[in-house]
Amino acid sequence: MQLEPVIDRSPNKYHRRAMTVEQARALLLSRVQPAEAVEVELADAFGRRLASSVRTEEPIPHFRRSGMDGYAVRTSDLTHVSTAVPVELEVIEHIPCGFEPEHKITAGKAARIMTGGMVPEGADAVMMQEMTELIESEGRSFVRIQKKVESGTNITPIGEEALGGTVVLEAGERIGVGHTAILASLGYGRVPVYRKPKVAILSTGSELLQLSDPLQMGKIRNSNAYMLAAQVVAAGGQPQLVGQIPDDYPRAERMLYELLSSDADLIVTTGGVSVGDYDIMADFFLRWEGTTLFNKIAMRPGSPTTAGSWRNKLLFGLSGNPSACFVGFELFVRPVIQQLQGAGVNDAKIVTCRLAVDYKKVNAYPRYVRGYWYSNGGQHYAEPVGRDKSSAILSLKDANCLIVIPPTKTDIPAGEIVQLIPLDGAMLT
Ligand code: AMP
Ligand code: MG
Repeated sequence: MQLEPVIDRSPNKYHRRAMTVEQARALLLSRVQPAEAVEVELADAFGRRLASSVRTEEPIPHFRRSGMDGYAVRTSDLTHVSTAVPVELEVIEHIPCGFEPEHKITAGKAARIMTGGMVPEGADAVMMQEMTELIESEGRSFVRIQKKVESGTNITPIGEEALGGTVVLEAGERIGVGHTAILASLGYGRVPVYRKPKVAILSTGSELLQLSDPLQMGKIRNSNAYMLAAQVVAAGGQPQLVGQIPDDYPRAERMLYELLSSDADLIVTTGGVSVGDYDIMADFFLRWEGTTLFNKIAMRPGSPTTAGSWRNKLLFGLSGNPSACFVGFELFVRPVIQQLQGAGVNDAKIVTCRLAVDYKKVNAYPRYVRGYWYSNGGQHYAEPVGRDKSSAILSLKDANCLIVIPPTKTDIPAGEIVQLIPLDGAMLT
């Protein structure tokens, strides 16, 4: 179901009606369908999202498996065993890993078996090697046992982990280390995953230099494009750095329609969405042929964050301020990239924590503050990192969460309960 945009169709960019973060996200996600599936080699599947669920054909394990090096025995032979009355069982077979036993264990018999070996019929326990003594007599081997053992000991029964036909991985799950082991054990040499969404990244701003340019007065290097590209990769997408343009409306318009008609799944721009004189993205979202879904969010930083759709393709106008750009991506673009890969994300993951320090700032809107969260004594705490200015770049690298500070007219004392959004997708630890 597509939700309808609720933007104010006022004639200029100065009058905007704010939408909440949650409303805006729901509006976006109601327009996103998962992309097609592709097959990749299992060795290349790490980090991708599964395009179909995976079920076992056979039970896991599919044979009774020994959990120890020792002897497969019948516990009924050991009912009266003790140190004073040891029992000697004849060892009739050696069962290494990977071989099917040839003999059934009958009364008075045992088989030597290795960890991972297939337990022979008739045996109902594996006696640990360390608890036994091997005796050779007249060319025959016997195992001397002085201790009782319960039926089932050291045997992994068939289907202990999963029965045949069990769904063990769901479509949309991100393939991690454990998933890789499961897929390998189920014989998936190739894995159906969602195609990586292509995300075109366009930077706008007459102040932007190329990375190799020397600094000039009034100009800055384009850090957002590379930050966004890294965020796209972290979210499982494929970034396309399509360039940077000055604040020149006709040029921006041409470029944007070109990108909207390209094979990119979505387009992310930075800069120019505010109400300044050269905010060409804000102008574009007022004039274009697409539907502007929102152009103001009740949040800081990044309140002018804008998004719209043109022929089912989403265009995001993120702020130019690095941290506003970062936050806008995490709150709105990341969930879209995830949903394009089948992840059922309706809301960002939220953790409840206590503020570790006083928060002194008056906010009319919820504020998404770059923070550091940790646990101490069973309780989560969070504190802002570095300078909480939307232009700040250095503090971005130390943040492992966004602390959600509710609108407030007064200081918030340390110890107050707030919520945070972990940035585990964007952080490498
Ligand atoms: P804007 O959103 O265009 O009003 O830009 C807000 C602030 O972000 C200005 O100080 C810009 O110089 C800065 N800015 C804009 N684009 C970028 C970019 N690509 N990388 C780093 N900073 C930027
Ligand atoms: Mg600008």
